[in-house]
Amino acid sequence: MGRTAVIAGDRLAQLQAWAAELGFEAVGVSRADRLDEEAPRLEAWLAEGRHGEMGYMEGHFEKRLDPRLLLPGTKTVLSLLYNYHTPDPVGRSDEDTNLKISSYALGEDYHFVVKRKLKELLKWMRADWGDIAGRVFVDSAPVMERVWASRGGLGWIGKNSLLLTKGAGSYFFLGEILIDIELPASVGAAMDHCGTCTRCIDACPTGAIIQPYSVDGSRCISYYTIELRGDLPEPVAGAFEDWMFGCDICQEVCPWNRHAQPHAEPAFLASPDLLAMTRADWVDLTSDTFEALFKKSPIRRTGFEGLKRNIAHIERERLKGGR
Ligand code: SF4
Ligand code: SF4
Repeated sequence: MGRTAVIAGDRLAQLQAWAAELGFEAVGVSRADRLDEEAPRLEAWLAEGRHGEMGYMEGHFEKRLDPRLLLPGTKTVLSLLYNYHTPDPVGRSDEDTNLKISSYALGEDYHFVVKRKLKELLKWMRADWGDIAGRVFVDSAPVMERVWASRGGLGWIGKNSLLLTKGAGSYFFLGEILIDIELPASVGAAMDHCGTCTRCIDACPTGAIIQPYSVDGSRCISYYTIELRGDLPEPVAGAFEDWMFGCDICQEVCPWNRHAQPHAEPAFLASPDLLAMTRADWVDLTSDTFEALFKKSPIRRTGFEGLKRNIAHIERERLKGGR
């Protein structure tokens, strides 16, 4: 083994130790090539309008396939997982009839929390390894984060289109750091362990998982409750199953999430005031309460009006169904 390889190996060990110190579960390393095999899939998905009104998905087609266009000189893509699993969020037990918020959105907005940590990690790399060029991303449209995480050996992309890990399920935020130095790439994509299971497809209330490994983003409850502006379309009426912001159903039914461990991030904890909200409180939600509850929350993306629209829709359908 040459001197360069030894140094690169040392750096990888350092990187893993730093990432763990910052609370990341795992780091995957991939060589920054163009994702040639993803191009036809991405093109077909967009051509079929699976992104709905998420216009930002259409832009930067080439940049999404080739990270070197996002940061010239990129040699390596680092993929990092940050756990957000909350084992027993409000509204999930059979007896509980409260309205539901996706578990990723109970605390502070992950974009800020995870990005802060990625920037810190890049700072540590620079302090120790010298002046490297780098750029961080969290849930950012120009990066095909699940593909990179899978390439980096962190898991496989399941039939629900989420990244799954055998040891810890799918309740992870994904982040990336592009850097202009080489590190030893991970062993390659993990094996698919979905097997004959179809639980996520069977459980999806809106039929958004149109076939294994393909989610029609424009039919997903997360899209309706977060991204869509204006009125909710009639065909989805009654299918929200009390989800007023996002949806965790295809994660909750996934057998690999039986192994998920609770997160350890204080910023992701729901506030006592949020936990105290009852269904009646949600129905009567005022803009003042919204502001007090969701100061730094990802729920600000849909805003007060959007959340009110979702709640009103769910309640209307509930009354129609005599629940
Ligand atoms: S998040 Fe909910 S609506 Fe979207 S694909 Fe999963 S189960 Fe279906
Ligand atoms: S529920 Fe089953 S098919 Fe769906 S992602 Fe999990 S293991 Fe794969």
